[in-house]
Amino acid sequence: MLAAQSNAARALPVSVLRTPAALMPGDPLSAAVTSAEPLAALDLTVELADGERVSGRGFAVRSGPAGMTWAAVIGIPSTAPAAPARLTISARFAGGAPQEAPRVLHEQSITIAERAFAVEDIPLSAELSNLRRTTDPRRQQESLALRLLLTTSRPVARPHFGPLRLPLGDARRTAGFGDRRRYLYADGSTDTTIHNGVDFGVPAGTAVAAAGGGTVVMARGRMVTGLTVVVEHLPGVYSLYYHLQSLAVQEGRYVAAGETIGAVGSTGLATGPHLHWEVRAAGVAVDPDILMTAPLVDLPGP
Ligand SMILES: [Zn+2]
Repeated sequence: MLAAQSNAARALPVSVLRTPAALMPGDPLSAAVTSAEPLAALDLTVELADGERVSGRGFAVRSGPAGMTWAAVIGIPSTAPAAPARLTISARFAGGAPQEAPRVLHEQSITIAERAFAVEDIPLSAELSNLRRTTDPRRQQESLALRLLLTTSRPVARPHFGPLRLPLGDARRTAGFGDRRRYLYADGSTDTTIHNGVDFGVPAGTAVAAAGGGTVVMARGRMVTGLTVVVEHLPGVYSLYYHLQSLAVQEGRYVAAGETIGAVGSTGLATGPHLHWEVRAAGVAVDPDILMTAPLVDLPGP
């Protein structure tokens, strides 16, 4: 009871933004909280009807008269069932005991709506069939390293809060976010997967623009995705660019929105020159088109 009373005494203004009552599979979801008392951590979690939990660690954004504002960004997986889900925002206070349970700041029910995705078949040559199914340790190591990168956040020196821009403008699209894909292997077997990004079919050599400002956290060759660039726009929020012909940036440097990060190619597992572009929030692939008009974090007025 004592713990509950001391918690209750910590009245803090909590603003929760861009959390409509209904969300679609693939929607990004952000929340911002302003606290007069210093926070040590903020967590945004959605528990889906099938029991899957998506969770993101928040980060301090700015201080103002009402205190420090924190934000967190997560994504609703494209596989989320069309059913009610539970959103929770919880925090730890800077002065709290290490064993103290996080305090729930906000809870609400949200409805995940039904969303249909395109279905496509992709025939692969013998060479690409082997690449897609290889058990080469390098591929496994690269897969683990990328997953670790995308689920770990780090401070971003010059964060990008606003909407993103398309890396190739209104170039022709050859595959969409969330497409259900069936790979047809050369030996007649098949494998079904989900396309986590958007593909643009443009000539090799076309300059690719950064979707937003941020830190280049990966710029290197990978077996499956070829020459790859990953930009961190906010802690835990990334845009990814695959199959490039050449790289124009190095790991660790800042890129401005619209700056060229490389040129379109067909390196890695690609059946022709194209850009695969993807946006991830706390590890979950989200529909990039939503972020062309909506900001990554919708901050309250100062
Ligand atoms: Zn793709």
